[in-house]
Amino acid sequence: TEAEFMEKYGGHVARGGIFIATRATKPEGTQLSFEIILLDGSRLMRGEGVVQRVTVDEQPGRSGMLVRFTRIDARTRALLDQVLAAREGVAAPDTVAAQPTAAAPEPITTSFTPPPQPAPKRGPLALADDVVLGVDLGTTTPRAAVFLDGAARMVPIPSERGAAMPSIVAWDEGRGKLLVGGAAKLHRVEHPQSTLWGFKRLLGRRARSRKVKEIARRLPFKVEADPEGDAGIELGGRVFSIPELAAELLKVVKDAAQSMLGRELSRAVLCVPAWYSDHQRAALLDAGRLAGLEVLRVLNEPSAVALAFGHGRGLARKRVLVYDLGGGTFDASVVEITGDDLEVVSTGGDAFLGGVDFDERLAEALINTLPEAARLRVFDSAMIVERVRDASEVTKIALSDKEKAGLHVPFVTTDEADEPVDLKRDVARAYLEQLTADLVERTAQVTQVVLDAAKLTPQSLDEVLLVGGQSRAPAVRRRMEALLGRAARSDVDPQGAVALGAALLGQSLVMRERGKRGLTLSEVLSAPIGVAVKGGGVRRILERNTRLPAEKTLAVPVEAGKVVKVAVFQGAAARAEDNEYLGALHATCDRSGELGLRFAVSADGRLVLSATSPTGKSAEMTFTTADASDEVHAQLLAEAPLPGEADPQQKGLLTGLRRLFGR
Ligand code: ADP
Ligand code: MG
Repeated sequence: TEAEFMEKYGGHVARGGIFIATRATKPEGTQLSFEIILLDGSRLMRGEGVVQRVTVDEQPGRSGMLVRFTRIDARTRALLDQVLAAREGVAAPDTVAAQPTAAAPEPITTSFTPPPQPAPKRGPLALADDVVLGVDLGTTTPRAAVFLDGAARMVPIPSERGAAMPSIVAWDEGRGKLLVGGAAKLHRVEHPQSTLWGFKRLLGRRARSRKVKEIARRLPFKVEADPEGDAGIELGGRVFSIPELAAELLKVVKDAAQSMLGRELSRAVLCVPAWYSDHQRAALLDAGRLAGLEVLRVLNEPSAVALAFGHGRGLARKRVLVYDLGGGTFDASVVEITGDDLEVVSTGGDAFLGGVDFDERLAEALINTLPEAARLRVFDSAMIVERVRDASEVTKIALSDKEKAGLHVPFVTTDEADEPVDLKRDVARAYLEQLTADLVERTAQVTQVVLDAAKLTPQSLDEVLLVGGQSRAPAVRRRMEALLGRAARSDVDPQGAVALGAALLGQSLVMRERGKRGLTLSEVLSAPIGVAVKGGGVRRILERNTRLPAEKTLAVPVEAGKVVKVAVFQGAAARAEDNEYLGALHATCDRSGELGLRFAVSADGRLVLSATSPTGKSAEMTFTTADASDEVHAQLLAEAPLPGEADPQQKGLLTGLRRLFGR
């Protein structure tokens, strides 16, 4: 309301201008127009101005820009008069006050209409900068939450037919436009080749990588290299990058949050699987940018779950296992909570294991019950397989609650006599469990590995949290409880926990910006980072499970004037080419000696490279993530130096700072 605005921000307003507290400042001299809208939709202030001064302060909440008004409308002028009258005798906070009503602003509107009655009170309102959107861009379903009125709350994301919005984007050839969510899912039934789903498996992966080739074989759509050399998808004769399409989903999520809040929102915490490489995190940041979001932090999904669970429970010290079996990915992590401090001590998973694999198993088994001719016809048509898979998912979900459930796909195909064939079966839970036992078993094995990696026994765990929709299957709970010898919690929302945790972290970041206490969070590196060495092997620079932020410097021998090339990879495989290719560094030095190559990984797992030349003078350095051709790639591997490790106490200038993801 107007009164709340005046109380909170009145001090920021002067006759000649306004101080806008933000970290997203515009350069001095920028001309802009502005509007301040109240929650009930009425306009409080409107005008135009110029950025007069930018303050960047280490102190939270102190950064911002001073905007000098050049034009304001009549209502704004009336409001300013009121504010200043109320503040009589109090010195204006900034130089703007000394500025006379800048060049006698011309009213933009001449008539002043009183605002409509304010909407019913909903507690104190924060400006958009105070609300951070927590996003779980799930493989199958995007979800979001915001911290509002003292608690993290889910954002309702609208979709057709009341179902949750699926993470699907499609190209509608006829209308020449992209479809998102429910509409894209409908489109997929008839046009699987022009519909992208399971994008999270492809996001930020190199198009040439073995993993991508492996998964592309199983997908009905065409995976093509985007201009960056990352996996993209060809739709309607054009290659779309995955971030571009993921941004479409993010926009829907952002819009949903804005309509829930009744105002604009620009900042977000985005979640990723813990195993995401630097390059994958960078790709998600790209998507965030394209959706108009300022991403404050990239948060590992298991950390978000632990955060959602631990928040407000006043847990002194707990060691929590987060088992997350979602639509397309599986993660297992051990997280330690100590009051406000949260630490991921071990993490692992399978990027290619999730609920869709369960659907596929059931679909395949049911199709195999058809007579030979019909069976072959079904397998021949991507469209029909898709229909059966959809139906199988519904049946699978029903079987989590019931011992028996039906599946009916009418007119699935025709037989030799061209007579229609229906696929109609009763499915028992035990049958589904038998078909998918090995999938559940694989998650148990991965969980065991994650525990072993941290030298933990099941007895040393305090809590077991099962999240992800597929963890609702009774067989999953049974298997995990048997493995761990304890009951899993039943009071976490398996499909909301990630987004809720992200919103809580977002709120905490806002608190810290304001100089208040907020929780801290440290994470570990989920996959090692290394450089290629002669013969195609890898020299590890930063080991898996290294506490973040972390840094290490590598001394690379250089000859004056000669180009040094270093290829950087992330992953645990012994051979460089079997890991995720992060990019290649090219550096030239003016003197022979050692180039100090510094690998720094930020708290959210993003790699920053910088180099110190032997003389401390600027080394010509470029870091490119663009896809190397096979020849260049081979050359890089062949020429790679056998580096030793440098003294971390390096001297000289850090030059050529380059963020890997700053494309
Ligand atoms: P993601 O985070 O990967 O988007 P979710 O955690 O939302 O995925 O889980 C989606 C998966 O969970 C889908 O494969 C869906 O079929 C499955 N699922 C949802 N509800 C149930 C249920 N009650 N029983 C079994 N599986 C379920
Ligand atoms: Mg998930």
